[in-house]
Amino acid sequence: MGKVLMIGAGGVGTVVAYKLAQHPEVFEQIVIASRTKSKCDALAASIGAKNIVTDQVDADDVEQLKALFNKHRPELVVNVALPYQDLSIMEACLACGCHYLDTANYEPKEEAHFEYSWQWAYRQRFQDAGLTAILGCGFDPGVTSVWTAYAAKHHFDEIQYLDIVDCNAGDHGKAFATNFNPEINIREVTQKGKYYENGQWIMTEPHAIHKTLHYPEVGPKESYLIWHEELESLVKNFPTIKRARFWMTFGQEYLTHLRVIQNIGMARIDPVMYNGVEIIPIQFLKAVLPNPGDLGANYTGQTSIGCRIRGLKDGKERTYYVYQNCSHHEAYLETGAQGVSYTTGVPAMCGAMMFMKGLWRKPGVFNVEEFDPDPFLKAMAENGLPWHEIFDQDLEMD
Ligand code: NDP
Repeated sequence: MGKVLMIGAGGVGTVVAYKLAQHPEVFEQIVIASRTKSKCDALAASIGAKNIVTDQVDADDVEQLKALFNKHRPELVVNVALPYQDLSIMEACLACGCHYLDTANYEPKEEAHFEYSWQWAYRQRFQDAGLTAILGCGFDPGVTSVWTAYAAKHHFDEIQYLDIVDCNAGDHGKAFATNFNPEINIREVTQKGKYYENGQWIMTEPHAIHKTLHYPEVGPKESYLIWHEELESLVKNFPTIKRARFWMTFGQEYLTHLRVIQNIGMARIDPVMYNGVEIIPIQFLKAVLPNPGDLGANYTGQTSIGCRIRGLKDGKERTYYVYQNCSHHEAYLETGAQGVSYTTGVPAMCGAMMFMKGLWRKPGVFNVEEFDPDPFLKAMAENGLPWHEIFDQDLEMD
């Protein structure tokens, strides 16, 4: 039993709060804190559990965070605000003796560039303080990394080829909307592609490599190679990997909107002057795009995310496809949020549960694949995300 404080009350935060509240035997007290307290209050009211309190914080400000942590004294801080806040929250955790968990790696506001080096630099300090930091505990990164660890533990002597495949076959009825924070999402998908092969990182133009992949219960979808953060830690933690890639499905309508947004300068992250006021175009765009947290009501279809792995077991080649399909509508009925928020929030709660139960707890800064995958995957299946395995099928991944 312990006290958990979560920061952020957006789409993902909504699901994390619902899921934490379903386990009062593990999370004795829950604090929901965010920049806009009214959103925390509305969320707490919709859940209606007695063990939730709310508070306000600007998580860019380490002093405010320290005051918040000293007031509530949580054992674990779950960061589901934005990647910009990762380092300030880690700093405050160190100052106040709190453990830490997040779902996305640090990204500086002024540069659309995400990598683990900034957070890995905290390893020694967390170790010396006897504190645990769990990085990337959403779905991807998160479950995809845990599945890789599970495959290495149970099904392979040597993982050689890893392809993470992320399909959203949902329809929210809007011409253009992002499934999580628009600013973070657009920064992610407009970057150059990057994958790992034979010890090298290979860069590609955005969306230059694509192929049709078949997803269970969904069928064929055009899938585009993009850079995704978990590849960075997975090739380090599983050095037998010869090639690691990440694929995401996009519809033509989405890509056309994205191209126009970029061409007219609305994806810019540098400040421009408008009527004497400095604005950042992508932040203004976020203000006019649909709120991902509000997409749930009319969202049909499902997500299908998995790992397609080829390697050796007992000297023989084997293939393995592990995946999870999540219905947007079922996610909405349970939490009021759509499937992308749901598939991120459930693993974040499961990671927090692993920590509270002492199963994922060791001093230092760790990516999720560095912990025992078995209890996490069991908890995930029990908490709304059942998953499936297919052996020795064509992976479509040459
Ligand atoms: P939202 O934009 O819906 O919510 C973000 C929340 O953080 C809002 O409540 C926002 O407050 C709050 N916030 C933002 N800045 C601050 C600040 N300075 N101080 C305090 N609170 C702040 O985003 P999502 O819920 O869609 O995404 C949350 C996180 O989950 C992101 O980091 C995203 O990258 C990650 N993610 C991870 C995935 C994975 O699979 N690993 C998949 C999808 C998302 P306010 O309401 O005031 O704006």
